[in-house]
Amino acid sequence: MSRRQPDRRRRETDEVPVQRLDAVSGDITTQTLDAIVNAANSSLLGGGGVDGAIHRAAGPELLAACRLLGGCDTGDAKTTPGFALPASWVIHTVGPVWRGGDHGEPELLASCYVRSLEEADRVGARSVAFPAISTGVYGYPIEAAAEIAVVTVRGASTDVEHVRFVCFNEPTTAVYARLLA
Ligand code: ADP
Repeated sequence: MSRRQPDRRRRETDEVPVQRLDAVSGDITTQTLDAIVNAANSSLLGGGGVDGAIHRAAGPELLAACRLLGGCDTGDAKTTPGFALPASWVIHTVGPVWRGGDHGEPELLASCYVRSLEEADRVGARSVAFPAISTGVYGYPIEAAAEIAVVTVRGASTDVEHVRFVCFNEPTTAVYARLLA
C-alpha cells in the first residue's frame, strides 16, 4: 500500500506553493491585488522610483504610518495599510545595493521575497504584486534579480495564491515572461 505520509508542516499552516504567477507591464500603484510590495530604503521615509510613486498614490498617511516602523533592515519587510491605494496593504522591503554580487546580494534579495510573503501571510493577503526589487537605483542586474525573484517565489510555502510581477518597462517584462514560461 502506498499511502503518503502526512505533511506535518502543511497540516499545521495550510501553506502550499503559490498557485498563480504572472508578469505584467505597468505601474504597481494601480494594481488591485491585496498587497503591493514597495522597494523602499532602510529609513522607510520615502524615496524615488517605485517608492516615490507609492507614497504619492497612497497619500500622506503612508509616510505617517512608516514613521512608526523605525526603519527596516536590508532583506527584511514591514507592512502598512495601503491608504488611498487600491491595495489594502503595502509591504515595504529593502533590497540590497548591487556591489558586484559577492557582498551577499543574492541572499539578501531572496530574503526580500521570502519576508514579503511572510508579511502577506501575517496580514492575510492572498494576492501580492512585486516590483523588480533593487533593479532601479540600487543597480541589481535585471536578469539575475528576476531569476532570484521567480525561483524564490516558486520555492515558497505560503497562503498567498497569486503573485504578480509588475514590470515598469518592456525589457523587464520580457525577462520575467521568459522565466515564467
Ligand atoms: P531600488 O532602489 O530597489 O532599485 P527603484 O524604485 O529605483 O528601487 O527601482 C526598482 C524597480 O521598480 C525598477 O525596475 C523600476 O523600473 C521599477 N519601478 C519604478 N517605478 C515603478 C512603478 N510605479 N511601478 C512598478 N515598478 C516601478
